[in-house]
Amino acid sequence: MGECIFCKIANGEIPSATLYEDDKFRVILDLSPASKGHALILPKQHVANLYEIPDELAADAMILAKKMADKMTKALSCDGFNLVQNNGEAAGQTVFHFHMHLIPRYDKDQVGLTWKPGTLTDEDKEEILEKMK
Ligand code: 5GP
Ligand code: ZN
Repeated sequence: MGECIFCKIANGEIPSATLYEDDKFRVILDLSPASKGHALILPKQHVANLYEIPDELAADAMILAKKMADKMTKALSCDGFNLVQNNGEAAGQTVFHFHMHLIPRYDKDQVGLTWKPGTLTDEDKEEILEKMK
C-alpha cells in the first residue's frame, strides 16, 4: 500500500506524535483533534476497514483500546471516553486504513458525536429481524 498515509505513519516512515507502539500497532495523536488527547490506534498491517480486519487483530485492537482508555483517562483526567470507528464514506471514514478513534471527553465539552433519535417502527423491526435470520 505505497500511497497509504496511515501505513507510512504506523510503520514509522512518517514521524508522528506516538503515545504507544508495539509490533502490531502504533497509537498517535490526531492532527485535527475533537478534544484534548484525541488519538488514533493504527494497525501496522494495512487493512481498509472492519470488514477486512482479521479476527485476531480486531481483538488485539480492542484490548489495546481498553488499555489506552485507562492510561489516557488517568493521565489527562478526562471525565469520559468515546471509542469511534468509521467504516466507509457513508459512515464518515476519510482515511481508508483501519483506525480506532480514542476520544477523551470532558464535562461540558463541545464534541458532537450525537444523532437525532428516530423511532423503531414495527415494520422496520420485523423486516430487520427477518433479514438478520
Ligand atoms: P476517519 O474520518 O477516517 O474516521 O478519521 C481520520 C482521522 O485521521 C481524522 O480525525 C483526521 O484528523 C486524522 N488524520 C488524517 N490525516 C492525518 C495525519 O496525517 N496525521 C494524523 N496524526 N492524523 C491524521
Ligand atoms: Zn495503510
